[in-house]
Amino acid sequence: MNNIIDGKKVRDLRTKELIEKISKLNTKLSLVVISVGDDPASRVYVSQKEKLANTVGYNFINLHYDSIKEEDLILEIKKLNKDQSITGIIVQLPLPNYLNEHKILETIDPLKDVDGLTSYNLIKLIKKEESLIPCTPKGIISLLEYYKIDLLKNVVIVGRSELVGLPLFHLLLNKNATITLCHSKTKNLKDYTSKADILIVAVGKKGLITKDMIKKNSIIIDVGINRVDNKLYGDVDFECSKYASLITPVPGGVGPMTVISLMENVYDAYKLQKKFDK
Ligand code: NAD
Repeated sequence: MNNIIDGKKVRDLRTKELIEKISKLNTKLSLVVISVGDDPASRVYVSQKEKLANTVGYNFINLHYDSIKEEDLILEIKKLNKDQSITGIIVQLPLPNYLNEHKILETIDPLKDVDGLTSYNLIKLIKKEESLIPCTPKGIISLLEYYKIDLLKNVVIVGRSELVGLPLFHLLLNKNATITLCHSKTKNLKDYTSKADILIVAVGKKGLITKDMIKKNSIIIDVGINRVDNKLYGDVDFECSKYASLITPVPGGVGPMTVISLMENVYDAYKLQKKFDK
């Protein structure tokens, strides 16, 4: 039995659906990606975003700075906020340490915040109000829905970052899942993971989850991306695939869903802006 969740297939289907929706608009949407410094992984991620933005027909702008003062970056974002021709803005993370990530992200107009990382959008998500949802959690929900996975189950998330674990906790809670959120201070992680019907791991440690830590026939979503000797690995030892009923591979699972979710957010941002008449 093939128990591999195919993120690329779902991405391609959603890309087609998005192109269809975009073709009904009489305007071209624009996505700006701001990047600072020289992080090799970031360069790969920006080029993946550019490729899919071109496929769906967005205008893609990468504002890249080798280095920039914080106040200048904030001014640049404020200019983009006011620019009517720009639909979505993201800041590629991680930023170099000398920049205050929180302050910079909070400068983005929440209606253009297509990474869904401003406090405004997180609070809206918690309150179940219409908002722009962080791309990786949104992509995971799309995958679970495509595979018709019953969420009224015992879900365990490992990792509580504002990028993945925390918003995913709220998204799943809004869908009535019963969730345990584990993190670096959780004692005896295995006690939790071994009871999970659905286990979602977003930590960044290759092979953190081993076969003795999972429940037989569980569904495993591996968010981790760990680069070792130019090869990508997840947080879940792939040996677990022998015991899981469904599992995402790395690469080819959650990653492609994150990028299509960003493109969907640009469309959603346009609709929200129309609604608020911006
Ligand atoms: P992060 O460093 O911000 O957060 C890591 C989380 O893991 C923290 O909440 C921490 O408490 C927890 N943690 C650390 N060690 C732990 C341990 N031993 N046991 C239990 N919990 C532990 O990372 P992030 O931005 O959330 O990313 C996590 C991973 O997911 C990384 O590998 C990242 O590259 C990957 N990622 C993938 C995608 C994708 O599209 N596939 C998107 C975003 C992030």
